[in-house]
Amino acid sequence: MKYDEIHIENLEFYAHHGVFPEETRLGQKFVLSLTMYVRSRAAGKADDLEMSVDYGAVSHFITEYMQKNTFKLIEAAAEYLAEELLGRYPLLEGLELELKKPWAPIGLPVEYVSVKISRFWHRAFLGLGSNLGDKKAYLDYAVEALRGEDGCRVEQVSDYLVTEPYGGVEQDDFLNACLELRTFFSPEELLERLHRIEQGAHRERVIRWGPRTLDLDILMYDDLVLDSSQLTIPHQEMHMRDFVLKPLSQIAPNLRHPIYRKTVSQMLKELG
Ligand code: ADP
Ligand code: MG
Repeated sequence: MKYDEIHIENLEFYAHHGVFPEETRLGQKFVLSLTMYVRSRAAGKADDLEMSVDYGAVSHFITEYMQKNTFKLIEAAAEYLAEELLGRYPLLEGLELELKKPWAPIGLPVEYVSVKISRFWHRAFLGLGSNLGDKKAYLDYAVEALRGEDGCRVEQVSDYLVTEPYGGVEQDDFLNACLELRTFFSPEELLERLHRIEQGAHRERVIRWGPRTLDLDILMYDDLVLDSSQLTIPHQEMHMRDFVLKPLSQIAPNLRHPIYRKTVSQMLKELG
């Protein structure tokens, strides 16, 4: 996927980031370059700033943010700034940011030192399930918890569907749903957040309801194919589970599985 780019080149400001006390006390010059990845065609055709990212406003925001906050590392300054920008400007699909420190106190003649990072929004689909206690409340809680995560934006939530338990074990019906998320978390970070949200649900009724009040799975993450000790993406069994494919087909019927090359609708139809 190719984005359009808006550049801010070598924006200078005076700020107080650094490991040494003199740096935080006296401050120094920083220089920042930013590439913003956007889809600018609509704004271009309409000649309308409202439909694009205002590089003036962004430049002022960067200057204020970098002067208001103090970080020891330019890595940290760049990382937090990148997250702020992605969170603040919804039309930004991603960015590349280089933060230069021309006066870095290293006692040698150097033009500058810098850190350069790229950060993007990703699209993930999650499966939600509960079969213990107040199932609807657990799913609601999960959706709300995800809405409350700074690195996530919940884009769509399917209906909650009652489904029969899987695998022949004698247990209560499930309530299942899927949701679409924009996130700048890596898959591992996202899994860690999901585990925390699951624990939040478990903890409330740990004795009374047991451990399966809430199950949150990553079904897909962009077109990523990943198989690590912690994570399998796409979710290993999503293509065989109607309780995943049914709600998923409500919100993303044309989403294509990156291994089987079939859409969600096709996979659901083939399940019969
Ligand atoms: P299940 O979802 O299979 O019923 P759990 O929710 O207990 O079981 O998950 C067990 C482990 O599965 C998690 O700790 C996680 O490391 C691993 N896992 C592998 N792939 C995924 C995925 N795509 N989404 C969520 N967890 C996954
Ligand atoms: Mg799970």
